[in-house]
Amino acid sequence: LDTSDAFAGGPLDLPGWRHVYSGKVRDLYAPDLPALGGVHPLGDVVLVVASDRVSAYDHVLSPGIPDKGVVLTQLSLWWFDQLADLVDNHVVSTEASAEPGDGLVPDVVAGRAMICRRLDMFPVECVARGYLTGSGLAEYRAGGEVTGIPLPAGLEDGSRLPAPIFTPATKAEVGEHDENVTFAEVARRIGDDDAARLRDLTLAVYARAEQVARERGVILADTKLEFGTVAAPDGERRIVLGDEVLTPDSSRFWPADDWEPGRAQPSFDKQFVRDWLTSDASGWDRAGDAPPPALPADVVQRTRERYLEAYERLTGAPLR
Ligand code: ATP
Ligand code: MG
Repeated sequence: LDTSDAFAGGPLDLPGWRHVYSGKVRDLYAPDLPALGGVHPLGDVVLVVASDRVSAYDHVLSPGIPDKGVVLTQLSLWWFDQLADLVDNHVVSTEASAEPGDGLVPDVVAGRAMICRRLDMFPVECVARGYLTGSGLAEYRAGGEVTGIPLPAGLEDGSRLPAPIFTPATKAEVGEHDENVTFAEVARRIGDDDAARLRDLTLAVYARAEQVARERGVILADTKLEFGTVAAPDGERRIVLGDEVLTPDSSRFWPADDWEPGRAQPSFDKQFVRDWLTSDASGWDRAGDAPPPALPADVVQRTRERYLEAYERLTGAPLR
């Protein structure tokens, strides 16, 4: 495993690909068509590369978490397989380049990259919650409901919900918060049929994944999915699961043995990063304008171990 900070920066110079977009964690590349003779051998694809960047409280932090991007990609690939009978996904290939510029995955990003069908993404973060915490808990405390879905009284931080709920959010620009919205608002934006399909798919994926995780002693408290569409050869428009799936960045995973509603739950994610940032030790004011300070080495190390542990607990095998 690589322990350098080489993959925590911006986009890379990748033969056969040109950078088109960077989110907080992933960099997207389109085929460099002139270099490929005008067409990519795998069709209309993008290269999705997960970096080692880590974000918390809507800031990208420094340094990165070594191998985090490999964990995110390998865990997503594992989940796409687990879900293959429920939903189409965007993965086309993870094959490594045989020669530079052949359109396959460049060696330098092998393990952290996937060649994916280019999707027309829905502008909706499809969130399923089986447990109440985070922004769901905040909404519930303010008004007894989450994205317009009324919930019974008396729920606490970490409570299991009577049944899993679909609580969509709108995608925010980099640096902005995603905003929870009602199902009716999603339907207004993308149409009733697609909204219902995204809701049903999201809840089906959650139900499957929650069961898989539970068998491994892990509670899947909530998760965020992103879907897009492709035009199929038969002229139909098909909904496809894109982005990353069921990773510690997109989901809350809690060790089942330690679950105890009424307090914040320990979790397999950036908990150490958040805890340190909000502790006196960091000296950082979350409400202020200053960017967060650099993460200490032990926070980086423990966070890295947490991501690796999440992968191992869920898949039952070490990363490599
Ligand atoms: P956040 O940090 O909140 O996740 P983000 O979603 O903008 O922000 P990343 O996850 O870092 O950023 O970047 C991944 C981007 O790639 C997202 O905008 C996602 O919608 C997009 N994406 C994922 N899969 C595909 C695909 N197959 N085709 C086109 N775009 C995709
Ligand atoms: Mg994302």
